[in-house]
Amino acid sequence: MIQTVRGTRDILPDDMPLWHRVEAVAREAFRRYGFREIRTPIFEKTELFARGVGEATDIVHKEMYTFTDRARVDSIQSGGESLTLRPENTASVVRAYIQHKMFADKSPGELTKLYYIGQMFRRERPQAGRYRQFYQIGVEVMGSSDDPAIEAEVIEMLDWFLKELKITNTTLLINSVGEPASRAVYLETLREAIRPKLDQLCTDCHHRFETNALRVFDCKNESCQTVIKDLPTITDSLDEASRQHFEQFKAHLDARGIAYTVNPRMVRGLDYYTRTAFEIVGHDGLGAQNTLVGGGRYDGLSETIGGPPTKGFGFAFGLDRMVMALPESEAEQLRAADAPDVFIVFLGKTARAHSFTVAQQLRAAGVAVAMEFEDRKMKKAMAAADKARASFALIIGDNEVASGTYGLKNLKTGEQESLTLDEIISKFGSVPGAVATG
Ligand code: AMP
Repeated sequence: MIQTVRGTRDILPDDMPLWHRVEAVAREAFRRYGFREIRTPIFEKTELFARGVGEATDIVHKEMYTFTDRARVDSIQSGGESLTLRPENTASVVRAYIQHKMFADKSPGELTKLYYIGQMFRRERPQAGRYRQFYQIGVEVMGSSDDPAIEAEVIEMLDWFLKELKITNTTLLINSVGEPASRAVYLETLREAIRPKLDQLCTDCHHRFETNALRVFDCKNESCQTVIKDLPTITDSLDEASRQHFEQFKAHLDARGIAYTVNPRMVRGLDYYTRTAFEIVGHDGLGAQNTLVGGGRYDGLSETIGGPPTKGFGFAFGLDRMVMALPESEAEQLRAADAPDVFIVFLGKTARAHSFTVAQQLRAAGVAVAMEFEDRKMKKAMAAADKARASFALIIGDNEVASGTYGLKNLKTGEQESLTLDEIISKFGSVPGAVATG
């Protein structure tokens, strides 16, 4: 028996209503706040992530699915290229923004607001809430403005999204990681502070110390954490402009009534962040992998991958984890609603043939109809309707075929009515779940 690859999984039909709900609420949030969808390829040139996300990050250093493309037989020049399954999507969206010149013919201050939904791939150690193929939904706001009001508005959108999903027990963590120039000065201070304690750090942290000391804060190792908690934080060395930006950002959150906690050690695992960084942490049903949302500002990422000067701000959340964070009562309701409106119970050959036409007409009118093709006794057929979790059983026997009125039995209350097809169709116009198509 061949099974799924470690760290990947099937999302089964029982769970799909939950996934659809999270996606639908996200799309509704994006519609309200003026974001439009973009889809980028699942694999890109390795260089995009190496340069964009940063060589020193855990993602690029040890988690990417990278492969050499086959050389083409008819060309000695093409092929042999290094490609990577995307580990995140910000670099790809910024690449698309540059490639399609979305910045052209924009007036000053005009923003490009994009969102995406799709699979990402990271070779992390699998555990509950952490997979090697996982799904992210994210947004990117790009343009010439770095107004902190943009950041607050995006977070306000997330706030609406979480409330709509009834995910209430969460904490917004914010920090500023400063500008590249002030960060360079801070990195020296940080390296000086780490150097005498190097022997207490893991081999990964040694690598981080050499390549980008800030990444030491990403280490999840407990013994490293005891060193990390005493290290100087970037907040202490913020440049004046970043400090002011952070103050304004907080004021915008206050004005919107959004609660937050400043965490000076939260630096996010990607190199492209400048100034504002944030996470939303969930507390229910998530276990150790409780970061629901991660995001921040990435002014300069465009330049890093060969584009024009661009300011950017965005976030991504894990769809897998968002589904896990849905309250159980919500999940139950969503699963229950994912069922047929009507299950056709037919009795005998003539009724069976007639049922096909009835089913066709109901479906054409937008009713979700289930039926099976086996000719069964009434009791067995009703059991099948229950098993299908249908709301109603539509009973068709020889008499019904002759009279053109059918028995419609409410499977929850047990009530039964005798109705014509037209009456049934108009009834379902008002039943939630049945889509009136007009
Ligand atoms: P990041 O791109 O690392 O900033 O992560 C953003 C969000 O994506 C996290 O907060 C998680 O919700 C989700 N995420 C990241 N890595 C994984 C993973 N390996 N499995 C499941 N979800 C993930």
